[in-house]
Amino acid sequence: MNLLETPIEYLKGVGPQRGDLLRKELGIHKYADLLNLFPNRYIDRTRYYKINELQNSNSEVQIVGKIINIKTVEQGKGKSRLVATFIDETGQMELVWFQGQKWIRESLKINVPYVIFGKVSQFGATYNMAHPEMELLEEHKASLRSAMQPVYPSTEKLANKGISNKVINKMMQQLFVETQALFSENLPNYLLDELKLIPKNAALFNIHFPKSQDLLAKAQFRLKFEELFFIQLQLITKNLIRKHKIKGMPFEKVGENFNNFYKNHLPFDLTNAQKRVLKEIRNDLGSNAQMNRLLQGDVGSGKTIVALMCMLMAKDNGFQSCLMAPTEILANQHFNGITELAKELNINIKLLTGSTKTADRKIIHEELENGKLDILIGTHALLEDKVQFHNLGLAIIDEQHRFGVEQRSKLWKKNAIPPHVLVMTATPIPRTLAMSLYGDLDISVIDELPPGRKPIQTVHRYDSNRLKVWKFLKDEIAKGRQVYIVYPLIQESEKMDYKDLMDGYESISRDFPLPQYSISIVHGKMKPADKDEEMRRFADGKTNIMVATTVIEVGVNVPNASVMVIESAERFGLSQLHQLRGRVGRGAEQSYCILMTSHKLSNESKIRMETMVRTNDGFEISEVDLKLRGPGDIMGKQQSGVLNLQIADLVKDKEILQLARYHAIKLLKDDAPMEKPEHAKLREAFIELSKKKTIWNYIS
Ligand code: ADP
Ligand code: MG
Repeated sequence: MNLLETPIEYLKGVGPQRGDLLRKELGIHKYADLLNLFPNRYIDRTRYYKINELQNSNSEVQIVGKIINIKTVEQGKGKSRLVATFIDETGQMELVWFQGQKWIRESLKINVPYVIFGKVSQFGATYNMAHPEMELLEEHKASLRSAMQPVYPSTEKLANKGISNKVINKMMQQLFVETQALFSENLPNYLLDELKLIPKNAALFNIHFPKSQDLLAKAQFRLKFEELFFIQLQLITKNLIRKHKIKGMPFEKVGENFNNFYKNHLPFDLTNAQKRVLKEIRNDLGSNAQMNRLLQGDVGSGKTIVALMCMLMAKDNGFQSCLMAPTEILANQHFNGITELAKELNINIKLLTGSTKTADRKIIHEELENGKLDILIGTHALLEDKVQFHNLGLAIIDEQHRFGVEQRSKLWKKNAIPPHVLVMTATPIPRTLAMSLYGDLDISVIDELPPGRKPIQTVHRYDSNRLKVWKFLKDEIAKGRQVYIVYPLIQESEKMDYKDLMDGYESISRDFPLPQYSISIVHGKMKPADKDEEMRRFADGKTNIMVATTVIEVGVNVPNASVMVIESAERFGLSQLHQLRGRVGRGAEQSYCILMTSHKLSNESKIRMETMVRTNDGFEISEVDLKLRGPGDIMGKQQSGVLNLQIADLVKDKEILQLARYHAIKLLKDDAPMEKPEHAKLREAFIELSKKKTIWNYIS
């Protein structure tokens, strides 16, 4: 039996009670878990300070010296502290304890050399150290420890129950003694050579007991690579298996509808990026495997027409398709846009949302089941049990991160054979996240905007400048343009936000009075029909200003609207700001985005405003966002499970991730089942790991 599988309480010095704590607090069940508890940071203990060198710097230092006396000092109210005088050849200081005084007093030795470690502070002329870590100099010299002292993750409970960092350190030493540090290598030798990785043994030793800065860095590199490499192996294997196992429904031909549309009805030339992406999708659809592709394209990059053309391919091959959007407004808009694009084609397209009338619903259900309906566009309503397709060949999902995994898999389950899936998102995902979260997906990127677009000009203005901003809006409206004014609506402060919106609407109505100006308002509390009506009035140019909450965030397309004012912009996240800004800049006119904030801005808000003003590039913005918020926050809890990395960091270790992915792909291309003798160890470790940690599955 593998020693590392031994339950943790059997480790000398642990026992049942501590074992229980380790399990509950740190998830350490067996030796292997402790071994993989990596330090958060290291304290440099290469240096020993003299007492006359101490400064009031609040930093941690270690000093060699002796205790010459101990006394209890009464503090009143029945409280006391224990104070020891500690000396070396250069001076004296005080050591102080508030807790555990009795036990400490009994265990301290007088006139014996100690090494003490902790933070010093100064009171008057005397330096003191409260609750120092102490070790007899003799033991200090003998112990298995290194100059770079690890600091392990801990919890308050552990600390309170006496499992201090020092104790964890001792356990780790014991672990290395009991196992004789014989940890088997799991990476193939040729990879170690090629990447100059240190062996597993050396890496584990130096991560816990670094012999030098250099070896520590090598150990970290090796272990980070290993962690990311195994995740990539898992993701890519999953992709391969899916392609192998899940037979798709090959769309064998590019047929008459597609060709007819392409030759005769394209309203504009496709951009090169659109053409490239269509080719990538076409390849997937034509192959024998199920497509599972993420289509990333910044707002306004033209994903809708790509979606339509894919659905035409489905139709040409005798399949139905559906397009699911997160909101009614968006579903409506897709429906209108796509019906318009396809008006010369003989295609049956229908819309299904929460507000579809029962009679229409019945017709849709029937036509779906008897195959008369070609394309169904809608909202979550598509997921209802009653919606049964005759033969769903392609499911397109717009703005993916608004749908949960479960919801998506519902669509997936509607067929005996899973349909091809295309997920479209306008929120660019940083490359590193895409690679690790969606590593099992294929990714297409539309990285080019249609020609003739003028980049949106973005400015940041303080509330105190509102009059000037209003003047600017009036000038633009005089030129025939339309304006969005958006208010935040955050669930937690919904009531306040709603009040802000209404107050804003009132004051805007006063500043932009009828009959010269007319104003639309759209917010979440309105009935869908009323919302649509207001949207339509604005889209038809009947109103000049649209006052709204973030319901207009995604997808809405009104080309004549050229100014976006975002109120309390500091309360929006970067990706949301970018999405909102994407509502303008859709027509031929110069467009503007005005970020209104108060004067009080946090540093992070300042960075967000600066980033928005500096760039229109969604990918660049997503990278800044990742740095500011970290991966967990960006993707949400549910999706960040895979990001519970032990040692690697997706923001800092981008290069290592890329390296790991590259080598994982290369290895699996060469030997997907990992059957070659040089991959035996790897395979073993891979299987072991897959048992424990299943990578979050994107779609199924
Ligand atoms: P998004 O990717 O944000 O969904 P849309 O599909 O809504 O973008 O397209 C935005 C606008 O650009 C639409 O008005 C669309 O008609 C137009 N458009 C898309 N592709 C092109 C192109 N190749 N040339 C010119 N205009 C295009
Ligand atoms: Mg869109």
